[in-house]
Amino acid sequence: MKSIRLKAYAKVNLSLDVLGKLDNGYHQVEMIMQQIKLSDDVFIRWFPDEDADGISITLKTNRYYLPVDSRNLAYKAAQIMSERVGHGLKGTVRIDIKKNIPVAAGLAGGSGNGAAVLHGLNVLWEAGLNLKKLCSLGAELGSDVPFTIMGQARGNRDLIKVFGKDPMATTCALAYGTGTELKPIKPLESPILLSKPPLSVSTAEVYQGLDKEAIEKRPDNKAMEEGLLAGNIDIVKKNMVNVLEGYTLSHYKQVKETKEKMIEVCPGASVLMSGSGPSVFAVSQDREELERGYKELKEINEETYLTRTIV
Ligand code: ATP
Repeated sequence: MKSIRLKAYAKVNLSLDVLGKLDNGYHQVEMIMQQIKLSDDVFIRWFPDEDADGISITLKTNRYYLPVDSRNLAYKAAQIMSERVGHGLKGTVRIDIKKNIPVAAGLAGGSGNGAAVLHGLNVLWEAGLNLKKLCSLGAELGSDVPFTIMGQARGNRDLIKVFGKDPMATTCALAYGTGTELKPIKPLESPILLSKPPLSVSTAEVYQGLDKEAIEKRPDNKAMEEGLLAGNIDIVKKNMVNVLEGYTLSHYKQVKETKEKMIEVCPGASVLMSGSGPSVFAVSQDREELERGYKELKEINEETYLTRTIV
């Protein structure tokens, strides 16, 4: 038996812009994504068995409501790897996921699980796929998967060994196209306060809603990139804009209230919704302020976290 244990980190969107809609229905985005320390634990085991009939996959998670078949991105990732690089292999892949990242939260939790399985089987099966190839397989799983693949290659010790200092292994990137094209950026170094209101928001609904509304304020991603490069957190804070906020905040009262409360308890921070929501997060150089905010928000909402970015 061979095994690997990987952390699948969450991400936040420091900015998110939607530039248009393609003929195939996908939206063209431009967003800056940053990995944070909050993570799921993904344990992957490979049991070779010469008598087996090809490769079988089993999956367990600590969230009873999550599917454990091909509707789960971790399972689907194992299927893709079996099809593409598993020729001639016989045995069982066992995946155990301990989820800490809130589900359907705008934090790329599921995407990160899929990414970890792609990485894990690449190592266990000695498939030798480079980051570019892994990302192209990841793009078949979902638009946030390539970024989480890059981030894990930088954040996990076992993967740093595999990929060395590949410049594409980054915990912060500008994502463009449908979100799968990535340009590495110098990561933000900051504590992060994060809160996920107790509701789910459908990403598809938010994008459809956006198609019907005019966008009032767009992020200046160039300015944000320069701020990151200069390590100037004030510039980053000033440029935190997410065009999906307008729809989600006006249609989901609890998200709006969470954002207002976070601004109230952390007046020196910059507060933004991540992805299509409902998670809201704060960036500030004042860790004590975020610690105070954490204590207050945690009393109202259990799904509140004090974490930090991965550099
Ligand atoms: P993204 O930011 O990538 O859009 P998200 O953070 O909004 O993702 P996820 O936690 O990835 O949301 O979950 C979105 C949906 O995907 C859930 O409703 C869930 O049923 C499904 N899903 C599939 N696989 C997983 C997984 N391994 N973990 C969590 N959700 C999963």
